[in-house]
Amino acid sequence: MHSFLFKRKNEAAQGACRLVGSGENILVWEDPWVLELPLFRPQPRNAHEPRQCLAVAQLMNHDRTDWNIGLVKQLFNEDSVRAILNIPKWFSGNEDKWIWLHSSNGVLTAKSAFKQIAKEAYDIPINQSLGRIWKTRIHDRLKMHLWRLAADLLPTKDTLTRFVSSLDPICVLCDQECEDAVHLFWDCPMARALWFGCRWSIRTDQFPITNATQLVIMLMSPPNEWGIKSEDKEGFILIGSLILDQIWKCRNLKVHEGCNASMEHLERRIAVLGSEYHLANSITLCPPSTVKKTCWQKPPINCLKINCDAAVGNSYSSVAIVARDWRGTVVLAVSQKVNTTIPLQAEAEAIAWASRIAANLGVDQICIESDSKTCMDHIRGKLTMLLMSLLGGHSEIDFGVLLI
Ligand SMILES: [Zn+2]
Repeated sequence: MHSFLFKRKNEAAQGACRLVGSGENILVWEDPWVLELPLFRPQPRNAHEPRQCLAVAQLMNHDRTDWNIGLVKQLFNEDSVRAILNIPKWFSGNEDKWIWLHSSNGVLTAKSAFKQIAKEAYDIPINQSLGRIWKTRIHDRLKMHLWRLAADLLPTKDTLTRFVSSLDPICVLCDQECEDAVHLFWDCPMARALWFGCRWSIRTDQFPITNATQLVIMLMSPPNEWGIKSEDKEGFILIGSLILDQIWKCRNLKVHEGCNASMEHLERRIAVLGSEYHLANSITLCPPSTVKKTCWQKPPINCLKINCDAAVGNSYSSVAIVARDWRGTVVLAVSQKVNTTIPLQAEAEAIAWASRIAANLGVDQICIESDSKTCMDHIRGKLTMLLMSLLGGHSEIDFGVLLI
């Protein structure tokens, strides 16, 4: 597997080169980024010295207006130093870009990149599902993100720790598990909440995956259990790729700038971007009412429905809460860790948390839904009493079981 990826990276490097913007997303030794050099990669001054894992941004001076020439000279051989100093002036606010040398205008289109790589790597069987990435009508940036994820080219911590053993491998979004692509985009409490909060209410714990390629394949060809109709598949790919994109952005924001993004912010961002792409590309986004009629249903008018879910892990569990109004719009999506590995207890914790949130929301009609019938049967009476006392007896409360 490693040699396969290494080969693919080399072949990609023959046509694609990174154009330095902020330099934050380009790895000095891994990525192709110096146009004037063979394979666009710089060479070290001393080939025997261990190579430190660095982003190109770390080669710049403090205010990011120029190279840190001392450091550049210390790390690279003469040819590389000259070529790096020749790189055109960048704007630190710009994003790093790809340029593509197999097209006349130097613009990398996702399709041309894939074609070239596929042509050169004739001995690599290319999964048809992955080939579909380029046929979708999502933005090229999202296609590239999916492809990098599928090809294991994202610099997640598990990849980086192969080069820098001192790097903290723990996921910055949950502070619990080691960060790899499967954890970050599928198993992390934040990922679970986002997938569960989307209009298809996908429970990631019911679809375990072992690598990121599988995840992208599932996105391109969703399992029947998710109840996605053929006319809604494009909308699903759009929303799914936005979830993956926003998780990566949120993770980078935390790693590079120490900023936290709230679940509500991410949910809203995904909804807004989804609508924008939908308008720009005429991608069908079927209203939630046409999806999963047999499972999740919108609450009655003016009622708030709170769905709760628990996923049991090896050392802790994650619970997620998603509240939607009578139009099916998400108004709240949160997740947290709970200190139990007993499924029933985790489900009960989720329902109890949903009840506390419901009490704080101060709405007139609330429906709390869980897929744990046992839990619901046991606590329905007690919780109704508790909530009635918290809400002052004016509200209508209903507890339901979501059949999946
Ligand atoms: Zn995590």
